[in-house]
Amino acid sequence: MLTSDAVKTRAREIGFDLCGIAAAEDHAQLPFLREWLDRGYAGEMGYLARTAERRADVRAVMPSARSVIALGTLYNSDRPYSTEVSDSGEALISRYAWGEDYHRVLGVRTEALRDWMVSMDPSIETRVYVDTGPVQEKVYAERAGVGWIGKNTCLINPRLGSWLFLSEVLCSAPLDSDAPGLDQCGSCTLCLDACPTEAFPEPGVLDATRCLSYLTIETKGAIPAENRAELEGHVYGCDVCQEVCPFNSGAPVSQDPAWEPRGLFDRSRLATLWRRSDADLRAAIRHGAMSRVRVKRLRRNLAVAMGNSGADDVAAALEQEPPDADSLREPLVAEHVAWARRRVRRT
Ligand code: SF4
Ligand code: SF4
Repeated sequence: MLTSDAVKTRAREIGFDLCGIAAAEDHAQLPFLREWLDRGYAGEMGYLARTAERRADVRAVMPSARSVIALGTLYNSDRPYSTEVSDSGEALISRYAWGEDYHRVLGVRTEALRDWMVSMDPSIETRVYVDTGPVQEKVYAERAGVGWIGKNTCLINPRLGSWLFLSEVLCSAPLDSDAPGLDQCGSCTLCLDACPTEAFPEPGVLDATRCLSYLTIETKGAIPAENRAELEGHVYGCDVCQEVCPFNSGAPVSQDPAWEPRGLFDRSRLATLWRRSDADLRAAIRHGAMSRVRVKRLRRNLAVAMGNSGADDVAAALEQEPPDADSLREPLVAEHVAWARRRVRRT
C-alpha cells in the first residue's frame, strides 16, 4: 500500500534531502501569480503568461491530482559566496549552475520515485516535474512543509537553507499531507536591503525585470544601458539575496558529486572564459544547468562584466579576439563588446 511515510522513506533512499506532501487543493498563494503577471513583473517571460491557466493549480494539468510530493535537493558547495569574492576579475556565476544539469539529474531521480510509487500502486496516475513544468513549485513545497517562501521569494528550509533544487510528483492518491512550513523571516530585511537593483517592490514580491538573473538569463536582446553597471561581475544569474540570508550562513555543503563545480565554471576568471572558443563555451553550457542561454548571450554578459571589472588581465583580454569566436560577429554581442571596451579605456 502506498503511504506518505513509505514515499518519504523511498525519497530519502533515492537521495532527496527533503520530502513533504501537500494536498492538491486551493492554496491561498496560488492566485497571486495572475496579479504578479498583471503588474508586468514577468517582463519578456511571455511563456509564464501563456501558461498562467495551467500554472494556476496542478489540477489544471492533471485533473485527478490529489497530492503533490515536494522534493528538495541540497546543492550547496564549499566555494565562497559572491559577496565574499574580492577579486573583480572573477566571473560570478549562480551557484546552481556550477554542477551537472539538475533538470537531467533530478529528472532521473524523481522519475525513479514515481516508478516506485506506481510499482506499489499501479492504479495511480502521476506526473513528474523538475523546475520547467507549469507548477508553482515553491507554493506546494511550502504547503508540504519543506520550508517557507522567504522575503527573497526563495524556498528556505530552517535546517538546510535555500540552496535547494525543487522537483515534484503529482499523484492521484490522496496521501496524508504535512503541516505547512512556518515563515521564519520575522523582522529581518537583509535580502531586501542587499539587492543591488532594488528588485523587491515589497517583501516576498520580485519584479523580475529588475533582477540580475532576469537581465543575464531571460533578456534576449540588449541589456539596457542603464542596467549594465549594476551587473558588476555577474555573468549568469545572481545569488546575493540568498547569500545574505542568515539561514544560508553556514549552510551544509552537499556531498553529491553531481553538484561539484565543473572546470570551466569553477571560480573562473572573466578573462579565462573570454579566451575560450565558442565551441568550448557551447560544450560547457550543454553539460550544465545553463539551459536558458546560448553562447551569444553568454558572450554578451561576459562583455558587460568585463567592462565593469577593472582587473588588469580583463582589460588586456577584452582587446583580444578569442580563437573561433564567431559569436563576436553577432551585432548584439559586438555592441556590448564595444560598450565594454569604451568603458575600460575610460578608466
Ligand atoms: S537575485 Fe540578485 S538582483 Fe535578483 S533579486 Fe536577488 S539580489 Fe536582487
Ligand atoms: S534574508 Fe532575512 S528576510 Fe530575507 S529571506 Fe532570509 S530570513 Fe527572510
